[in-house]
Amino acid sequence: MTRKIESGRRIVIKIGSALLADQEHGTVHRKWLDALAEDVAACRERGQEVLLVSSGAIAIGRRRLGLPHGVLKLDDNQAAAAAGMVRLAHAYEEVLGAFDIAVGQVLLTLDDTENRRRYINARNTLEALLKLGAVPLINENDTVATDEIRFGDNDRLAARVAAMTSADTLVLLSDIDGLYTADPRTDADAVIIPEVTEITPEIEAMAGAAPIGDSKGGMVTKLAAAKVCLANGCRMVIMDGNEPYPLKRLQDGATATWFLPSATPKTARKRWIAGTLSAAGSVLLDAGAEKALKTGKSLLPAGVVAIEGDFQRGDAVAVKSTDGRELGRGLIAYGAEDARRIMGYKTSEIEGRLGYRGRDVMIHRDDLVLD
Ligand code: GLU
Repeated sequence: MTRKIESGRRIVIKIGSALLADQEHGTVHRKWLDALAEDVAACRERGQEVLLVSSGAIAIGRRRLGLPHGVLKLDDNQAAAAAGMVRLAHAYEEVLGAFDIAVGQVLLTLDDTENRRRYINARNTLEALLKLGAVPLINENDTVATDEIRFGDNDRLAARVAAMTSADTLVLLSDIDGLYTADPRTDADAVIIPEVTEITPEIEAMAGAAPIGDSKGGMVTKLAAAKVCLANGCRMVIMDGNEPYPLKRLQDGATATWFLPSATPKTARKRWIAGTLSAAGSVLLDAGAEKALKTGKSLLPAGVVAIEGDFQRGDAVAVKSTDGRELGRGLIAYGAEDARRIMGYKTSEIEGRLGYRGRDVMIHRDDLVLD
């Protein structure tokens, strides 16, 4: 993968609180956001998909509600997030609306990205929004997330979103222009590292502690995000977002640190499905379906002759031939009970059999790895 932002197909942009929130009035920096919307529109013109992970709800909401400076109590923090998110979403809807781009708000908790069943739901919603031409606006669901179940910072949330949606690029817009060999605020010899391909202990040692103020991250959470990205075949870039038009600047070769993975999101995901998941059951196919899978098709309910085991939607299952030969692994779109009800039936009959309209396929080809 290269350092060219133009080569990204699906780009996640993470916007830090300090860039967006006016410290005094609890309003949104509108000019900055207008310019970002222009950047996003330019990406979409080029045929790139964009997802936004935006911080700022708490920073904006606490001032809107007149809460004091300093660390807030959990319930005040949650109230601030609730009030601030409305302002934030409104601002994004306005600036992107000017380019006729719809915005879909998605608030996630840690569980939505780690628990596989919740994960598949969040992933499908994000895919649907993208397919419909909208820009998902994502933040942590701070109003329900208590400290024990929080990400707490949007750097890692953005990396999980990138992994979940098989994005190939994550841009972290920060108040620092990249990873330095030491803290540039205290060490005059610190120099920026333009490219990282592996998070070594030396790289980790370069990250200082988290900053104070509205930003929750710091280099530590950014490196944690980079690890998730590299493992998922997604490149990540850290840059200073303070000046307007950050993506345009990136295109023009702005100073930044790029983290470049060796694999693509697709191969990384397939590796994950093949290697790290234990099968919760099996799906047996007829000869026609076996042949179709080998030509790169998805598995339809019509080609399934038997279901073994008890599993839930989103679980990994073994895919087998009628005589029990293991052909590969996949993430199944239906739980065992529903899968039994629709096996052997045409896709058009799914709704009638189940009483709801689920996915058209039993296992999507992107969720399938053949041996
Ligand atoms: N979710 C928090 C908010 O919207 C921000 C967390 C962060 O700054 O990383 O205020």
